[in-house]
Amino acid sequence: MVSRPTRLTPPVECVRLYDAEAGLDGVIVIHSTALGPGAGGCRFWSYPDFDAAFADAMRLAEGMSYKNALAGLPLGGAKAVLRRPAGEFDRTKLFRAFGRAVEALGGLYVTAEDVGTTVADMQEIASVSRHVAGLPPAKGRAGGDPSPWTAKGVFESMRAAAGFALGSELAGLTVAVQGTGNVGAELCRRLAAAGARLVVADPSPARRDRLSAVHGAAVVGVDEIAGVEADIFAPCALGGALDRDGVGRLKARLVCGAANNQLASPEVADLLLDRDIAYVPDYVANAGGIISVSAEYLGEDESDVEVRVGAIAPRVADLLARAAREGRSPAVVADEMAEEAIAGAQRVAA
Ligand code: NAD
Repeated sequence: MVSRPTRLTPPVECVRLYDAEAGLDGVIVIHSTALGPGAGGCRFWSYPDFDAAFADAMRLAEGMSYKNALAGLPLGGAKAVLRRPAGEFDRTKLFRAFGRAVEALGGLYVTAEDVGTTVADMQEIASVSRHVAGLPPAKGRAGGDPSPWTAKGVFESMRAAAGFALGSELAGLTVAVQGTGNVGAELCRRLAAAGARLVVADPSPARRDRLSAVHGAAVVGVDEIAGVEADIFAPCALGGALDRDGVGRLKARLVCGAANNQLASPEVADLLLDRDIAYVPDYVANAGGIISVSAEYLGEDESDVEVRVGAIAPRVADLLARAAREGRSPAVVADEMAEEAIAGAQRVAA
């Protein structure tokens, strides 16, 4: 089996952000606007240099194009990555300076929370730009913390995939959850309610132990979780959960989780296929968060989010069936489906 090369395609626009006085140093990468404004969160993280931040932004922006296209959203893909200053800094000043850069793009880029940014940061951006989501919602309207929607989409994807690949309901299955933060904890709550058994790992004792207390989850070390006896492995921590060695150690027959970029490299998808381990591509399962963000930006209601998140599981079932029919990895098939959606919009625009 031959893997596809990494997908990186040229972005539509890259905007270098630098304002020494405000402590702003980063980049906005708009990867695609074929389906609508480029949308993707703002990551605020310590990077050794600008090149590292830029590389991350390129990869993440491209991933957003695929995720938004496959979720059927009227949005392209983009991402902002800001380097966290090493010393003291004025957070208000920094995020207002970033917000002015977002506003200057006139709606070509829509931002929201990502790793390292908060609702309060989005509120600072909103004081200078309209092109931001992830703000506290008005009653009945879409908005607020997207994590519960992400967890719902992942849970329903897992249920559909377990039915297809394992021929089983979730009740009685064992799920190994790597990372019990905002999404992982809510996923565990749903799994426990569905009668699944849980094994969890998280470097934060407070986060993992509350799950053991409430849902009777077994706790293992972070280095063990990928290889424990389980039916399903759910990566819900950071990216790169599965590399070549990790796939070799997996005992689970299905991988489905919330983390972005779960596969350390594209050929890992082929290794999973070779070992007959079903894989739900990360960006298909975890689209609930961007669906909520998108609805908020477009001024839609919570019921619209409910409908679109409800469409994730049937999409997963279709994707797995198509991949099985064609003897290919669901990761490759999902990429092709997203590329078809983007190319279709480009043809209509031309
Ligand atoms: P979070 O920061 O709340 O939780 C991540 C958890 O992973 C933390 O508790 C952390 O301690 C733990 N962790 C870190 N390294 C670990 C390791 N080696 N082993 C086990 N646990 C580890 O983040 P989140 O919002 O729950 O998001 C989880 C993942 O899902 C991230 O990859 C994120 O990019 C992705 N995601 C989140 C959303 C969302 O709506 N929040 C949407 C799409 C994708």
